[in-house]
Amino acid sequence: AKKSDNLNSIEMYDEVLHPAVKTRATLETDLAFALQGQQLLLYFQVQVDETHQPIGAEVLLRWQHPALGMIPPDQFIPIAEESGEIVPIGQWVLQQACEQLRHWASAPLTRSLMLSVNVSAVQFNQPDFVQMVTDTVLQSGCDPRLLRLELTESLIVRNVDEIIGKIQALKALGMTFSLDDFGTGQSSLSVLKRLPLDELKIDKSFIKDILHNTYDTFIVETIIKMAKNLGQTVIAEGVEMQPQKTLLQTMGCHRFQGYLFSKPLPLEQFESSLQTEMAMLQPGNEIAVGVA
Ligand code: C2E
Ligand code: MG
Ligand code: MG
Ligand code: MG
Repeated sequence: AKKSDNLNSIEMYDEVLHPAVKTRATLETDLAFALQGQQLLLYFQVQVDETHQPIGAEVLLRWQHPALGMIPPDQFIPIAEESGEIVPIGQWVLQQACEQLRHWASAPLTRSLMLSVNVSAVQFNQPDFVQMVTDTVLQSGCDPRLLRLELTESLIVRNVDEIIGKIQALKALGMTFSLDDFGTGQSSLSVLKRLPLDELKIDKSFIKDILHNTYDTFIVETIIKMAKNLGQTVIAEGVEMQPQKTLLQTMGCHRFQGYLFSKPLPLEQFESSLQTEMAMLQPGNEIAVGVA
């Protein structure tokens, strides 16, 4: 189309912008029905100690859209945060996680596994957040000590005392807190050190080049030292290669999550991979863990 041709340029403009705008609007509308339509599901990604022993899992949300297929969380969580839909969705995730913990409590293989649940800043900042989490945990009958909430630095735009109060109220129930994607946010260390966090989760962007980029190596080493001085444990996310794990371990990091161990898996696959892993770690135990 010629630039001077007004009609055509409107059409072109429409053609170029329309799909993206429509997709976002469609996603926002569809998201409002995703929960009741049972289109949301949880994947589980194992977290391990230095001996590759599973210590828990992170719960990761997936949306099985009836027409568009599987939509990754990076594409719909921001929309859910804007629309407010993240509040009921986040509550559902927590409920499911608590029920899973309750269920796992009856089997020796799974009873001490922890679950880490991502909490959006929008969700955390709801005035009834502490009450909602308390009710959900108590109603499920799970052990709150096995529940870890992952927060991000994006939370810290408001009153820090209020944030600390909420964290402490929930810690009093026994649950623990992790700071996700650590190192990517804007918050100052003087604010971060005031938060009563149990764990720092080093963002995968630092782990990616840790073997070759000396800045990343140095940053990770510093984060690990700082966490130790603050009495926090450290977990590295995005560990894909054995040499990354080895280096992290020599730096004092003892918890790991990443494709080296497993991708996020649907529940059934997660549970069967646990059995395989445990059988490999304890060769005498095949029968006890139910491996044929
Ligand atoms: P996150 O909490 O930082 O989760 C880790 C992300 O890294 C996950 O992406 C996981 O699949 C991915 N990952 C794990 N190991 C590796 C690895 O070795 N290599 C690479 N390249 N990636 C790895 P996922 O599942 O797509 O989730 C993306 C983000 O969506 C999460 O980042 C979290 O911020 C958000 N999210 C997921 N589920 C929930 C939820 O239930 N509620 C909220 N509010 N946010 C969620
Ligand atoms: Mg996370
Ligand atoms: Mg993360
Ligand atoms: Mg993230």
